[in-house]
Amino acid sequence: MKSRVEMTEKKGLAELGEFGLIERIQAQAGSSPSLTLGIGDDCSILNVANDEELLTSTDLLIEGVHFNLDWTSFEQLGRKSVAVNISDIAAMGGDPKCLYMGIAIPPSVSVENLEQFIAGVLSEAKAHGAVLAGGDTSRSSGLLVISVTVQGTTKQGQAVRRSGAEYGDLIFVSGTLGDSALALYLLQKNERPKAELTLRHHCPEARSALGIKLADRKLARAMIDISDGLVADLNHILDASKAGAILNLEAIPLSSSAKEIFKLHPEIFDLALTGGEDYELLFTVGPESTTEIIKIAEELNLPLTCIGVVQESRDLQIVCEDGSNYQYQQGGFDHFARS
Ligand code: ADP
Ligand code: MG
Repeated sequence: MKSRVEMTEKKGLAELGEFGLIERIQAQAGSSPSLTLGIGDDCSILNVANDEELLTSTDLLIEGVHFNLDWTSFEQLGRKSVAVNISDIAAMGGDPKCLYMGIAIPPSVSVENLEQFIAGVLSEAKAHGAVLAGGDTSRSSGLLVISVTVQGTTKQGQAVRRSGAEYGDLIFVSGTLGDSALALYLLQKNERPKAELTLRHHCPEARSALGIKLADRKLARAMIDISDGLVADLNHILDASKAGAILNLEAIPLSSSAKEIFKLHPEIFDLALTGGEDYELLFTVGPESTTEIIKIAEELNLPLTCIGVVQESRDLQIVCEDGSNYQYQQGGFDHFARS
């Protein structure tokens, strides 16, 4: 409780100092049974069971590249920084355990901003049973830079890789696609997207409960989280698995807001295929697992939609209702691609 009071004291960053800030973060972070030692020493100590494997992933978020402070609150930014990392653990079927957060702070960011950011980080971590176990803090001469590393565990040999897809596997995706990309597209055009869409962009939900079930029940053969767009991320699975796929265009799951917009503007439909930042899970299962998948969708109250099938021929075909091939416009997100 005391930490909460200290945190809301009106002190500038210069007065608080690096170690004062770290102390506040430490007081807020709490503990977890999987963590023998958290913030405060040179390293954290994570307790890993004998029959488990450790998964680690890291993501960078740069102001002006990954987020725009005019559109997102610091609390949402904290949540998103954690969610996009936990999504990677979910994509392997892992149980997220601890987070490490590097922040480079420019002079424009206040202690209050950081307090809201950390609150977002901690609430998102808690929602997935993870704890903030360390990080690094620095002054930035320009932009706000956030680097989050997440560790999670799976039972020995149970992590789901991109490379396991087999011919004849059904391809499933969770939730709906294109909402986040549509929100960004509208924000960039100075339009005001519906709250349903902006939330999908600013506060994506990591599907860790789904990932864990798919791995625990040994259902998913290949899995990835959709961060760069359905087509790009499916191609990662197909490349790793040395396979191809046929997708059914009409099966792509869309939210009611997205459907409405695509009806008026069919020319931007490809955002659902190539837009990115959906953070839904894309996975393949043997056809015999369909009833199990339907059961999991009910357990989680989360739509899981079969959108196609893995085929031997190494290309990705997207087929329309009339049997013709659909040609999509844009490529998936690539930081270094010329726009
Ligand atoms: P070192 O000099 O060994 O890198 P620091 O003074 O940077 O140590 O960090 C001290 C402790 O505070 C470490 O446990 C580190 O993980 C933690 N820490 C530093 N910055 C952050 C942060 N932004 N979020 C969470 N923990 C942090
Ligand atoms: Mg340090």
